[in-house]
Amino acid sequence: MDPLVAAIDQGTSSTRFLVFNAKTAELMSQHQVEIKQSFPKEGWVEEDPKEIMRSVYECMERTCEKLSLLNIDICNIKAVGVTNQRETTLVWDKETGEPLYNAIVWLDLRTQSTVESLINKSPGKNKNHLKHKTGLPISTYFSAVKLRWLLDNVEKVQQAVRSQRAMFGTVDSWIIWCLTGGNSGGVHCTDVSNASRTMLFNIHSMDWDPELCRYFDVPMEILPTVRSSSEIYGWMKSGSLAGVPISGCLGDQSAALVGQMCFNEGQAKNTYGTGCFMLRTTGTKPLTSHHGLLTTVAYKLGKDEPACYALEGSVAIAGAVVRWLKDNLGIVQSSSEIEKLAAAAGTSYGCYFVPAFSGLYAPYWEPSARGIICGLTQFTNRNHLAFAALEAVCFQTKEILDAMNQDSGVPLTQLQVDGGMTSNRLLMQLQADILCIPVVRPTMSETTALGVAMAAGAAEGVGVWNLSPSHLPNVTTEKYEPQINPDESEFRFSRWKKAVQRSMNWET
Ligand code: ADP
Repeated sequence: MDPLVAAIDQGTSSTRFLVFNAKTAELMSQHQVEIKQSFPKEGWVEEDPKEIMRSVYECMERTCEKLSLLNIDICNIKAVGVTNQRETTLVWDKETGEPLYNAIVWLDLRTQSTVESLINKSPGKNKNHLKHKTGLPISTYFSAVKLRWLLDNVEKVQQAVRSQRAMFGTVDSWIIWCLTGGNSGGVHCTDVSNASRTMLFNIHSMDWDPELCRYFDVPMEILPTVRSSSEIYGWMKSGSLAGVPISGCLGDQSAALVGQMCFNEGQAKNTYGTGCFMLRTTGTKPLTSHHGLLTTVAYKLGKDEPACYALEGSVAIAGAVVRWLKDNLGIVQSSSEIEKLAAAAGTSYGCYFVPAFSGLYAPYWEPSARGIICGLTQFTNRNHLAFAALEAVCFQTKEILDAMNQDSGVPLTQLQVDGGMTSNRLLMQLQADILCIPVVRPTMSETTALGVAMAAGAAEGVGVWNLSPSHLPNVTTEKYEPQINPDESEFRFSRWKKAVQRSMNWET
Protein backbone atom coordinates (compact mmCIF):
# COMPACT_ATOMS: atom_id res chain seq x y z
CA MET A 1 0.00 0.00 0.00
CA ASP A 2 1.27 3.48 -0.87
CA PRO A 3 1.92 5.87 2.02
CA LEU A 4 -0.93 8.23 2.90
CA VAL A 5 -0.81 11.80 4.14
CA ALA A 6 -3.69 13.58 5.87
CA ALA A 7 -4.77 17.20 6.04
CA ILE A 8 -6.85 19.09 8.58
CA ASP A 9 -8.50 21.96 6.69
CA GLN A 10 -10.07 24.29 9.25
CA GLY A 11 -11.95 26.93 7.23
CA THR A 12 -14.28 29.74 8.22
CA SER A 13 -17.41 27.80 7.26
CA SER A 14 -16.35 24.24 8.01
CA THR A 15 -13.66 21.80 9.11
CA ARG A 16 -12.52 18.95 6.89
CA PHE A 17 -10.15 16.03 7.30
CA LEU A 18 -8.86 14.51 4.07
CA VAL A 19 -6.50 11.64 3.33
CA PHE A 20 -4.40 11.55 0.15
CA ASN A 21 -2.23 8.90 -1.47
CA ALA A 22 1.30 10.38 -1.34
CA LYS A 23 2.30 8.72 -4.64
CA THR A 24 -0.69 9.65 -6.79
CA ALA A 25 -2.31 12.55 -4.87
CA GLU A 26 -5.60 10.63 -5.08
CA LEU A 27 -8.13 11.63 -2.42
CA MET A 28 -8.89 8.43 -0.49
CA SER A 29 -11.47 9.59 2.02
CA GLN A 30 -12.72 12.68 3.85
CA HIS A 31 -15.19 14.04 6.35
CA GLN A 32 -16.56 17.56 6.78
CA VAL A 33 -18.38 19.32 9.62
CA GLU A 34 -19.94 22.80 9.37
CA ILE A 35 -18.82 25.41 11.95
CA LYS A 36 -21.24 27.78 13.69
CA GLN A 37 -20.48 31.47 13.50
CA SER A 38 -21.96 33.87 16.02
CA PHE A 39 -22.67 37.53 15.44
CA PRO A 40 -23.07 38.89 19.01
CA LYS A 41 -23.20 42.52 17.84
CA GLU A 42 -23.33 44.25 14.49
CA GLY A 43 -20.01 43.70 12.74
CA TRP A 44 -18.79 41.14 15.27
CA VAL A 45 -17.99 37.58 14.11
CA GLU A 46 -16.92 34.88 16.54
CA GLU A 47 -16.40 31.13 16.60
CA ASP A 48 -16.08 28.78 19.56
CA PRO A 49 -12.50 27.40 19.86
CA LYS A 50 -13.78 24.27 21.61
CA GLU A 51 -16.28 23.63 18.81
CA ILE A 52 -13.41 24.03 16.34
CA MET A 53 -11.44 21.32 18.18
CA ARG A 54 -14.48 19.05 18.49
CA SER A 55 -15.00 19.34 14.74
CA VAL A 56 -11.32 18.48 14.11
CA TYR A 57 -11.52 15.34 16.28
CA GLU A 58 -14.87 14.32 14.79
CA CYS A 59 -13.61 14.71 11.22
CA MET A 60 -10.46 12.71 11.99
CA GLU A 61 -12.28 9.84 13.66
CA ARG A 62 -15.06 9.63 11.01
CA THR A 63 -12.49 9.64 8.20
CA CYS A 64 -10.52 6.85 9.91
CA GLU A 65 -13.74 4.83 10.18
CA LYS A 66 -14.48 5.41 6.48
CA LEU A 67 -10.95 4.25 5.58
CA SER A 68 -11.40 1.08 7.64
CA LEU A 69 -14.65 0.37 5.78
CA LEU A 70 -12.62 0.65 2.55
CA ASN A 71 -10.12 -1.85 4.01
CA ILE A 72 -7.41 0.79 4.11
CA ASP A 73 -5.13 0.49 7.13
CA ILE A 74 -4.79 3.85 8.87
CA CYS A 75 -1.22 2.85 9.82
CA ASN A 76 -0.37 3.99 6.30
CA ILE A 77 -1.00 7.60 7.34
CA LYS A 78 2.54 8.89 7.73
CA ALA A 79 1.95 12.55 8.45
CA VAL A 80 -0.71 15.16 9.11
CA GLY A 81 -0.74 18.77 7.89
CA VAL A 82 -2.79 21.67 9.23
CA THR A 83 -4.23 24.43 7.05
CA ASN A 84 -6.53 27.07 8.45
CA GLN A 85 -8.56 30.24 8.16
CA ARG A 86 -5.92 32.93 8.65
CA GLU A 87 -5.85 35.99 10.98
CA THR A 88 -8.61 34.60 13.26
CA THR A 89 -7.33 35.30 16.77
CA LEU A 90 -7.37 33.23 19.96
CA VAL A 91 -5.97 33.50 23.47
CA TRP A 92 -5.99 30.56 25.88
CA ASP A 93 -4.66 29.58 29.30
CA LYS A 94 -1.65 27.28 29.05
CA GLU A 95 -2.26 25.78 32.51
CA THR A 96 -5.94 24.87 32.14
CA GLY A 97 -6.05 24.60 28.33
CA GLU A 98 -9.21 26.76 28.37
CA PRO A 99 -9.82 29.40 25.70
CA LEU A 100 -10.20 32.79 27.41
CA TYR A 101 -12.62 34.21 24.85
CA ASN A 102 -14.22 33.11 21.59
CA ALA A 103 -12.05 33.16 18.47
CA ILE A 104 -12.37 36.59 16.83
CA VAL A 105 -12.86 35.76 13.16
CA TRP A 106 -10.88 37.58 10.45
CA LEU A 107 -14.07 39.23 9.13
CA ASP A 108 -14.83 40.88 12.49
CA LEU A 109 -15.14 44.69 12.48
CA ARG A 110 -15.10 45.49 16.22
CA THR A 111 -11.67 47.11 15.94
CA GLN A 112 -12.76 49.68 13.35
CA SER A 113 -12.41 52.66 15.71
CA THR A 114 -9.01 51.40 16.97
CA VAL A 115 -7.85 51.11 13.37
CA GLU A 116 -9.10 54.60 12.53
CA SER A 117 -7.30 56.11 15.50
CA LEU A 118 -4.06 54.23 14.68
CA ILE A 119 -4.22 55.55 11.11
CA ASN A 120 -4.99 59.10 12.31
CA LYS A 121 -1.99 58.99 14.65
CA SER A 122 0.42 57.73 11.97
CA PRO A 123 2.60 60.19 10.01
CA GLY A 124 0.54 61.62 7.16
CA LYS A 125 -2.49 59.60 8.39
CA ASN A 126 -1.17 56.80 6.25
CA LYS A 127 -2.75 53.34 6.51
CA ASN A 128 0.38 51.90 4.88
CA HIS A 129 2.59 53.21 7.66
CA LEU A 130 3.76 49.67 8.68
CA LYS A 131 3.77 48.19 5.21
CA HIS A 132 7.56 48.33 4.83
CA LYS A 133 7.85 45.72 7.61
CA THR A 134 4.59 43.79 7.39
CA GLY A 135 3.49 44.04 3.74
CA LEU A 136 0.03 44.97 5.09
CA PRO A 137 -2.07 48.10 5.56
CA ILE A 138 -3.43 48.82 9.06
CA SER A 139 -6.85 47.17 8.93
CA THR A 140 -9.41 45.36 11.08
CA TYR A 141 -8.49 42.23 9.07
CA PHE A 142 -5.19 41.31 10.74
CA SER A 143 -4.60 39.67 14.13
CA ALA A 144 -2.69 42.40 16.01
CA VAL A 145 -5.70 44.69 16.43
CA LYS A 146 -7.94 41.77 17.41
CA LEU A 147 -5.39 40.72 20.03
CA ARG A 148 -5.22 44.35 21.22
CA TRP A 149 -9.00 44.26 21.70
CA LEU A 150 -8.75 41.06 23.78
CA LEU A 151 -5.97 42.56 25.92
CA ASP A 152 -8.00 45.74 26.47
CA ASN A 153 -11.44 44.27 27.04
CA VAL A 154 -11.32 40.74 28.45
CA GLU A 155 -10.43 40.51 32.12
CA LYS A 156 -9.56 36.81 31.92
CA VAL A 157 -7.02 37.60 29.21
CA GLN A 158 -5.51 40.43 31.30
CA GLN A 159 -5.21 38.15 34.33
CA ALA A 160 -3.64 35.35 32.29
CA VAL A 161 -1.06 37.76 30.84
CA ARG A 162 -0.22 39.03 34.34
CA SER A 163 0.26 35.50 35.65
CA GLN A 164 2.20 34.44 32.52
CA ARG A 165 -0.39 31.85 31.55
CA ALA A 166 -1.63 33.43 28.31
CA MET A 167 -0.94 31.98 24.90
CA PHE A 168 -1.89 33.79 21.69
CA GLY A 169 -2.33 31.99 18.43
CA THR A 170 -4.09 31.88 15.11
CA VAL A 171 -6.21 28.76 14.46
CA ASP A 172 -3.20 26.69 13.31
CA SER A 173 -1.42 27.30 16.65
CA TRP A 174 -4.51 26.39 18.65
CA ILE A 175 -5.03 23.14 16.70
CA ILE A 176 -1.37 22.07 16.84
CA TRP A 177 -1.11 22.90 20.56
CA CYS A 178 -4.25 20.87 21.35
CA LEU A 179 -3.31 17.91 19.14
CA THR A 180 0.22 17.65 20.53
CA GLY A 181 -0.93 17.45 24.13
CA GLY A 182 -2.49 20.80 25.11
CA ASN A 183 -1.80 21.67 28.75
CA SER A 184 0.34 18.56 29.15
CA GLY A 185 3.17 19.43 26.79
CA GLY A 186 1.47 20.88 23.69
CA VAL A 187 3.72 22.60 21.14
CA HIS A 188 3.06 26.35 20.79
CA CYS A 189 4.07 27.23 17.24
CA THR A 190 2.92 28.71 13.95
CA ASP A 191 4.39 28.83 10.45
CA VAL A 192 5.71 31.82 8.51
CA SER A 193 2.63 32.08 6.26
CA ASN A 194 0.27 32.42 9.24
CA ALA A 195 2.68 34.65 11.18
CA SER A 196 2.86 37.04 8.23
CA ARG A 197 -0.87 37.84 8.67
CA THR A 198 -0.64 39.04 12.26
CA MET A 199 1.02 42.47 11.64
CA LEU A 200 3.51 41.57 14.37
CA PHE A 201 5.84 39.68 12.00
CA ASN A 202 8.63 41.24 10.00
CA ILE A 203 8.44 39.66 6.54
CA HIS A 204 12.09 40.55 5.80
CA SER A 205 13.82 39.36 8.99
CA MET A 206 11.25 36.51 9.19
CA ASP A 207 10.67 36.90 12.89
CA TRP A 208 8.40 38.64 15.41
CA ASP A 209 9.31 42.31 15.36
CA PRO A 210 9.88 43.97 18.77
CA GLU A 211 9.03 47.40 17.37
CA LEU A 212 5.70 46.18 15.94
CA CYS A 213 4.91 44.45 19.25
CA ARG A 214 5.61 47.73 21.07
CA TYR A 215 3.44 49.62 18.57
CA PHE A 216 0.48 47.34 19.30
CA ASP A 217 1.56 46.94 22.94
CA VAL A 218 1.57 43.15 22.71
CA PRO A 219 3.71 41.15 25.21
CA MET A 220 6.09 39.05 23.12
CA GLU A 221 6.08 36.13 25.57
CA ILE A 222 2.52 35.17 24.55
CA LEU A 223 3.49 34.68 20.88
CA PRO A 224 4.07 31.20 19.39
CA THR A 225 7.44 30.10 17.98
CA VAL A 226 7.64 30.69 14.23
CA ARG A 227 8.62 27.61 12.20
CA SER A 228 8.82 26.75 8.51
CA SER A 229 5.73 25.40 6.72
CA SER A 230 7.18 21.90 6.34
CA GLU A 231 8.91 20.27 9.31
CA ILE A 232 7.91 18.05 12.23
CA TYR A 233 6.36 20.25 14.93
CA GLY A 234 5.24 17.39 17.19
CA TRP A 235 3.24 14.17 17.28
CA MET A 236 -0.48 13.49 17.70
CA LYS A 237 -1.08 12.74 21.36
CA SER A 238 -4.37 10.84 21.29
CA GLY A 239 -7.09 9.31 19.12
CA SER A 240 -6.78 6.88 16.22
CA LEU A 241 -3.76 8.71 14.82
CA ALA A 242 -1.74 8.96 18.08
CA GLY A 243 1.97 9.00 17.28
CA VAL A 244 1.63 10.38 13.73
CA PRO A 245 3.81 13.48 13.15
CA ILE A 246 2.25 16.86 12.43
CA SER A 247 4.65 18.17 9.82
CA GLY A 248 2.89 20.71 7.60
CA CYS A 249 1.35 24.07 8.49
CA LEU A 250 0.12 26.67 6.01
CA GLY A 251 -2.52 29.40 6.02
CA ASP A 252 -5.34 28.28 3.74
CA GLN A 253 -4.45 30.59 0.85
CA SER A 254 -0.81 29.54 0.93
CA ALA A 255 -1.87 25.90 1.00
CA ALA A 256 -4.02 26.44 -2.09
CA LEU A 257 -1.03 28.03 -3.83
CA VAL A 258 1.05 24.91 -3.08
CA GLY A 259 -1.86 22.63 -4.01
CA GLN A 260 -2.16 24.40 -7.37
CA MET A 261 1.60 23.88 -7.71
CA CYS A 262 2.37 27.55 -8.12
CA PHE A 263 6.09 27.15 -7.40
CA ASN A 264 7.35 29.45 -10.15
CA GLU A 265 7.45 33.21 -10.11
CA GLY A 266 4.38 34.71 -11.79
CA GLN A 267 2.04 31.76 -11.22
CA ALA A 268 -1.28 32.63 -9.58
CA LYS A 269 -4.47 31.12 -8.20
CA ASN A 270 -7.79 32.45 -6.96
CA THR A 271 -9.67 30.63 -4.19
CA TYR A 272 -13.42 31.17 -3.77
CA GLY A 273 -14.50 30.31 -0.19
CA THR A 274 -16.12 32.54 2.43
CA GLY A 275 -13.97 35.29 0.95
CA CYS A 276 -11.99 35.30 -2.25
CA PHE A 277 -8.19 35.39 -2.35
CA MET A 278 -5.92 35.73 -5.34
CA LEU A 279 -2.21 35.07 -4.77
CA ARG A 280 0.59 35.43 -7.30
CA THR A 281 4.03 34.14 -6.40
CA THR A 282 6.90 36.59 -6.66
CA GLY A 283 9.66 34.09 -5.79
CA THR A 284 12.14 34.73 -3.00
CA LYS A 285 11.78 38.51 -3.22
CA PRO A 286 8.89 40.42 -1.66
CA LEU A 287 7.29 42.81 -4.15
CA THR A 288 5.56 45.95 -2.92
CA SER A 289 2.18 46.70 -4.44
CA HIS A 290 1.24 50.17 -5.64
CA HIS A 291 -2.35 49.11 -6.32
CA GLY A 292 -3.77 48.08 -2.96
CA LEU A 293 -2.50 44.50 -2.80
CA LEU A 294 -0.75 42.85 0.14
CA THR A 295 2.75 41.42 0.26
CA THR A 296 2.63 38.16 2.11
CA VAL A 297 4.88 35.21 2.92
CA ALA A 298 3.55 32.43 0.70
CA TYR A 299 5.45 29.46 2.19
CA LYS A 300 8.80 28.17 3.35
CA LEU A 301 8.92 24.49 2.49
CA GLY A 302 11.56 23.30 4.96
CA LYS A 303 13.76 24.74 7.72
CA ASP A 304 16.66 25.36 5.35
CA GLU A 305 14.62 26.35 2.33
CA PRO A 306 14.17 30.01 1.35
CA ALA A 307 10.86 31.73 2.03
CA CYS A 308 8.72 32.50 -1.02
CA TYR A 309 6.55 35.57 -1.20
CA ALA A 310 3.29 36.43 -2.96
CA LEU A 311 1.23 39.43 -3.88
CA GLU A 312 -2.28 38.95 -2.57
CA GLY A 313 -5.65 40.47 -3.33
CA SER A 314 -8.12 39.69 -0.56
CA VAL A 315 -11.89 40.04 -0.95
CA ALA A 316 -13.78 39.73 2.35
CA ILE A 317 -17.15 38.53 1.05
CA ALA A 318 -17.54 35.91 -1.70
CA GLY A 319 -19.28 32.66 -0.62
CA ALA A 320 -20.44 34.58 2.45
CA VAL A 321 -22.86 36.54 0.24
CA VAL A 322 -24.47 33.24 -0.78
CA ARG A 323 -24.64 32.19 2.87
CA TRP A 324 -26.27 35.56 3.64
CA LEU A 325 -28.91 35.05 0.94
CA LYS A 326 -29.56 31.63 2.46
CA ASP A 327 -29.43 32.43 6.21
CA ASN A 328 -30.66 36.03 6.33
CA LEU A 329 -33.09 36.28 3.39
CA GLY A 330 -33.99 32.61 3.00
CA ILE A 331 -34.16 32.87 -0.79
CA VAL A 332 -32.26 29.58 -1.13
CA GLN A 333 -32.23 26.49 1.09
CA SER A 334 -28.65 25.53 0.26
CA SER A 335 -25.64 27.38 -1.18
CA SER A 336 -25.63 25.27 -4.34
CA GLU A 337 -29.25 26.21 -5.09
CA ILE A 338 -28.16 29.72 -6.04
CA GLU A 339 -26.90 28.42 -9.38
CA LYS A 340 -30.44 27.37 -10.41
CA LEU A 341 -31.87 30.77 -9.50
CA ALA A 342 -29.13 32.70 -11.27
CA ALA A 343 -29.45 30.48 -14.34
CA ALA A 344 -33.22 31.06 -14.43
CA ALA A 345 -32.56 34.83 -14.62
CA GLY A 346 -29.53 34.66 -16.92
CA THR A 347 -28.87 38.33 -16.11
CA SER A 348 -29.01 40.66 -13.12
CA TYR A 349 -31.31 42.90 -15.16
CA GLY A 350 -29.26 45.98 -14.29
CA CYS A 351 -29.10 45.18 -10.60
CA TYR A 352 -25.70 45.55 -8.85
CA PHE A 353 -24.94 44.12 -5.43
CA VAL A 354 -21.85 45.26 -3.52
CA PRO A 355 -21.62 42.93 -0.50
CA ALA A 356 -19.35 45.21 1.57
CA PHE A 357 -20.63 43.66 4.81
CA SER A 358 -17.21 43.92 6.45
CA GLY A 359 -16.10 47.08 4.68
CA LEU A 360 -14.10 46.66 1.48
CA TYR A 361 -10.72 44.92 1.44
CA ALA A 362 -8.40 45.00 -1.61
CA PRO A 363 -7.86 47.17 -3.49
CA TYR A 364 -9.80 49.80 -1.46
CA TRP A 365 -9.16 48.93 2.22
CA GLU A 366 -12.18 50.95 3.28
CA PRO A 367 -13.59 49.67 6.59
CA SER A 368 -16.51 52.10 6.59
CA ALA A 369 -17.97 50.85 3.28
CA ARG A 370 -21.27 48.98 3.64
CA GLY A 371 -23.27 46.68 1.42
CA ILE A 372 -25.66 48.10 -1.15
CA ILE A 373 -27.97 46.75 -3.82
CA CYS A 374 -28.81 49.24 -6.55
CA GLY A 375 -30.59 49.36 -9.88
CA LEU A 376 -33.74 47.69 -8.53
CA THR A 377 -37.01 47.96 -10.49
CA GLN A 378 -40.49 46.52 -10.05
CA PHE A 379 -39.33 43.73 -12.34
CA THR A 380 -36.37 42.61 -10.15
CA ASN A 381 -36.91 39.28 -8.46
CA ARG A 382 -34.86 36.89 -6.33
CA ASN A 383 -33.33 35.26 -9.41
CA HIS A 384 -31.85 38.60 -10.50
CA LEU A 385 -30.58 39.14 -6.99
CA ALA A 386 -28.93 35.70 -7.03
CA PHE A 387 -27.29 36.53 -10.36
CA ALA A 388 -26.10 39.92 -9.07
CA ALA A 389 -24.57 38.25 -5.99
CA LEU A 390 -22.55 35.84 -8.13
CA GLU A 391 -21.61 38.62 -10.53
CA ALA A 392 -20.33 40.64 -7.54
CA VAL A 393 -17.84 37.86 -6.75
CA CYS A 394 -16.62 38.02 -10.36
CA PHE A 395 -16.33 41.82 -10.42
CA GLN A 396 -14.37 41.81 -7.17
CA THR A 397 -12.00 39.26 -8.68
CA LYS A 398 -11.58 41.44 -11.78
CA GLU A 399 -10.57 44.41 -9.62
CA ILE A 400 -7.89 42.27 -7.98
CA LEU A 401 -6.68 40.80 -11.26
CA ASP A 402 -6.37 44.28 -12.80
CA ALA A 403 -4.35 45.46 -9.78
CA MET A 404 -2.12 42.40 -9.99
CA ASN A 405 -1.49 42.88 -13.70
CA GLN A 406 -0.57 46.52 -13.09
CA ASP A 407 1.78 45.68 -10.22
CA SER A 408 3.60 42.90 -12.02
CA GLY A 409 3.47 44.38 -15.53
CA VAL A 410 2.78 40.92 -16.97
CA PRO A 411 -0.94 40.21 -17.55
CA LEU A 412 -2.22 36.78 -16.56
CA THR A 413 -3.44 34.87 -19.60
CA GLN A 414 -5.62 32.46 -17.65
CA LEU A 415 -6.78 32.11 -14.06
CA GLN A 416 -6.36 28.94 -11.96
CA VAL A 417 -9.19 28.65 -9.45
CA ASP A 418 -10.34 26.47 -6.56
CA GLY A 419 -12.45 26.55 -3.38
CA GLY A 420 -16.01 25.65 -2.34
CA MET A 421 -17.74 28.06 -4.73
CA THR A 422 -16.01 26.73 -7.84
CA SER A 423 -18.43 23.80 -8.03
CA ASN A 424 -20.83 26.48 -9.33
CA ARG A 425 -20.40 26.23 -13.10
CA LEU A 426 -22.43 29.32 -13.85
CA LEU A 427 -20.09 31.30 -11.59
CA MET A 428 -17.06 29.91 -13.41
CA GLN A 429 -18.48 30.85 -16.83
CA LEU A 430 -19.47 34.29 -15.58
CA GLN A 431 -15.94 34.76 -14.25
CA ALA A 432 -14.37 33.91 -17.61
CA ASP A 433 -16.82 36.30 -19.34
CA ILE A 434 -16.03 39.18 -16.99
CA LEU A 435 -12.24 38.69 -17.01
CA CYS A 436 -12.11 37.97 -20.77
CA ILE A 437 -9.54 35.21 -20.09
CA PRO A 438 -10.05 31.46 -19.57
CA VAL A 439 -10.72 30.15 -16.05
CA VAL A 440 -9.20 26.75 -15.22
CA ARG A 441 -10.48 24.60 -12.39
CA PRO A 442 -8.91 21.32 -11.19
CA THR A 443 -11.49 18.53 -11.14
CA MET A 444 -10.25 17.62 -7.64
CA SER A 445 -11.36 20.79 -5.88
CA GLU A 446 -9.70 20.17 -2.49
CA THR A 447 -6.53 22.01 -3.48
CA THR A 448 -6.05 23.66 -0.09
CA ALA A 449 -5.95 20.33 1.72
CA LEU A 450 -3.75 18.82 -0.99
CA GLY A 451 -1.24 21.67 -0.60
CA VAL A 452 -0.73 21.18 3.12
CA ALA A 453 -0.68 17.39 2.71
CA MET A 454 2.17 17.88 0.23
CA ALA A 455 4.02 20.11 2.71
CA ALA A 456 3.50 17.56 5.52
CA GLY A 457 4.54 14.59 3.39
CA ALA A 458 7.68 16.32 2.12
CA ALA A 459 8.97 17.31 5.58
CA GLU A 460 12.38 16.18 6.72
CA GLY A 461 11.97 12.99 8.74
CA VAL A 462 8.74 12.09 6.88
CA GLY A 463 9.86 12.23 3.25
CA VAL A 464 6.97 10.36 1.62
CA TRP A 465 6.08 13.17 -0.80
CA ASN A 466 8.50 14.59 -3.32
CA LEU A 467 7.95 18.20 -4.33
CA SER A 468 10.33 18.20 -7.30
CA PRO A 469 8.58 19.15 -10.58
CA SER A 470 8.94 15.68 -12.12
CA HIS A 471 7.05 14.13 -9.18
CA LEU A 472 4.19 16.57 -8.94
CA PRO A 473 0.77 14.98 -9.40
CA ASN A 474 -0.92 15.25 -12.75
CA VAL A 475 -4.19 17.03 -12.20
CA THR A 476 -7.09 17.00 -14.61
CA THR A 477 -8.76 20.33 -15.19
CA GLU A 478 -11.92 21.91 -16.58
CA LYS A 479 -11.57 25.08 -18.66
CA TYR A 480 -14.12 27.89 -19.08
CA GLU A 481 -13.55 30.14 -22.12
CA PRO A 482 -14.94 33.69 -22.28
CA GLN A 483 -18.14 33.74 -24.32
CA ILE A 484 -19.34 37.35 -24.31
CA ASN A 485 -18.21 40.42 -26.15
CA PRO A 486 -15.47 42.27 -24.17
CA ASP A 487 -17.38 45.58 -24.65
CA GLU A 488 -20.39 44.12 -22.87
CA SER A 489 -18.18 42.93 -20.02
CA GLU A 490 -16.48 46.35 -19.80
CA PHE A 491 -19.88 48.08 -19.65
CA ARG A 492 -21.08 45.91 -16.78
CA PHE A 493 -17.79 46.41 -14.95
CA SER A 494 -18.09 50.20 -15.26
CA ARG A 495 -21.55 50.02 -13.68
CA TRP A 496 -20.15 47.88 -10.87
CA LYS A 497 -17.45 50.51 -10.20
CA LYS A 498 -20.18 53.14 -9.79
CA ALA A 499 -21.97 50.90 -7.30
CA VAL A 500 -18.70 50.46 -5.36
CA GLN A 501 -18.28 54.24 -5.11
CA ARG A 502 -21.77 54.47 -3.65
CA SER A 503 -21.05 51.72 -1.13
CA MET A 504 -18.06 53.76 0.08
CA ASN A 505 -19.94 57.07 0.25
CA TRP A 506 -23.45 56.01 1.10
CA GLU A 507 -23.49 58.02 4.33
CA THR A 508 -22.44 61.33 2.76
P1 ADP B 1 -14.09 28.25 3.62
O1 ADP B 1 -12.79 27.55 3.29
O2 ADP B 1 -13.96 29.75 3.70
O3 ADP B 1 -14.76 27.67 4.83
P2 ADP B 1 -15.27 26.80 1.37
O4 ADP B 1 -14.20 26.72 0.35
O5 ADP B 1 -15.62 25.59 2.16
O6 ADP B 1 -15.06 28.04 2.37
O7 ADP B 1 -16.59 27.32 0.61
C1 ADP B 1 -17.76 27.56 1.32
C2 ADP B 1 -18.41 28.83 0.85
O8 ADP B 1 -18.77 28.69 -0.53
C3 ADP B 1 -19.67 29.13 1.62
O9 ADP B 1 -19.70 30.54 1.92
C4 ADP B 1 -20.81 28.77 0.67
O10 ADP B 1 -21.90 29.68 0.81
C5 ADP B 1 -20.17 28.92 -0.71
N1 ADP B 1 -20.64 27.88 -1.68
C6 ADP B 1 -20.50 26.55 -1.56
N2 ADP B 1 -21.05 25.92 -2.65
C7 ADP B 1 -21.52 26.90 -3.46
C8 ADP B 1 -22.17 26.91 -4.74
N3 ADP B 1 -22.43 25.79 -5.41
N4 ADP B 1 -22.49 28.12 -5.28
C9 ADP B 1 -22.21 29.27 -4.63
N5 ADP B 1 -21.60 29.31 -3.42
C10 ADP B 1 -21.25 28.17 -2.84
